[in-house]
Amino acid sequence: MTFTEHESIESAAQKPILEAIGLSKHFGIEAGLFQRRKPPVQAVNEVSLSVRRGETLALVGESGSGKSTLGRLLLNLLNPTSGDVIYEGRNLANLSPEKLRQVRRELQIIFQDPFASLNPRMTVDSIVGEPIWLHSDASRSDRQARVAELLRTVGLAPEHAGRHPHEFSGGQRQRIGIARALASEPRLILGDEPVSALDVSVQAQVVNLLEDLKHRFGLTLVIVAHGLAVIRHMSDRVAVMYLGEIVELSPVNELFESPLHPYTQALMAAVPVSHPDLRHPRPLLGGDMPSPRRPPSGCRFHTRCPHARPLCKEVKPPFVAVDAERQVACHYWREIANAGAGTLVVPTPSAAYTQRLNLFKSHQALSLESQP
Ligand code: SF4
Repeated sequence: MTFTEHESIESAAQKPILEAIGLSKHFGIEAGLFQRRKPPVQAVNEVSLSVRRGETLALVGESGSGKSTLGRLLLNLLNPTSGDVIYEGRNLANLSPEKLRQVRRELQIIFQDPFASLNPRMTVDSIVGEPIWLHSDASRSDRQARVAELLRTVGLAPEHAGRHPHEFSGGQRQRIGIARALASEPRLILGDEPVSALDVSVQAQVVNLLEDLKHRFGLTLVIVAHGLAVIRHMSDRVAVMYLGEIVELSPVNELFESPLHPYTQALMAAVPVSHPDLRHPRPLLGGDMPSPRRPPSGCRFHTRCPHARPLCKEVKPPFVAVDAERQVACHYWREIANAGAGTLVVPTPSAAYTQRLNLFKSHQALSLESQP
């Protein structure tokens, strides 16, 4: 699909804040004088994608699908092998170092492991205050006041400013990471698996915090996640990645109601359910992901796809528009969807189970309401 076609799919009213155009990142291209030249690792391959202003876009896929690399390319933390990143209509490759510094301030990241991403020798005051010190000429007292305000914003007490990261729990450390990201007044935040290193009980609190901050500060969020369960309640659209390419792009509700690509369907089958009656009838994804150094010919998913046919091995499926909002890269998506294989077949639960489920939901709602 050409970029012009890609553009026409995007609603004119929802002008993108960030765009990737034919973005590729191949690692290990250079070889030493006496080294045998190995094929490069194709971490991201020819990805075109728009991030709309104010939305939460999730990048989902197994480990090695290229989602984190794509996130870092979007934030200009990695240089692309080819392709462009356009932020607010400006090509990042053409910006001067000074302009790029300003843009980097507006594009922030929250890392997966809050302990590894915070300097253990620095106090919270220095960690959160550093971006303010770097990007503004605020006085020391103004900076301290701003740090206190940011700590309150993420649910921490200003008195914690003098402590070190090891004195906090995992959830609190992630809140410090969020406060630091907010310190430079960003417009877009990339969450690189922001809750996967946290206890399940704390994950919901951090997800709720990100949602709240998004609405309060008009942020755009890009969330990288390896499972669909986490992003269901916090994203507007989902881009599913396999072996460095986007195979399906869809609004989140449509994706969960009727996943079109066989890979999305397999990911969906892996979402944990709360009762055996709701278990998914489809088998989980088998086999390992092929090496990104030697990706399969044609459709990269054909070595694991239960619907693969000879054409899939020969011809790469185009990333076609299913409707104004959805795109998929599969030769047979229509057939698979019409045959019902693309829909989630959930057996009707028993009346007793429904009653227990409703009871559980009401308890859950009560406990969430009582959370600070
Ligand atoms: Fe499966 Fe073929 Fe579709 Fe690829 S193009 S997902 S191999 S059916």
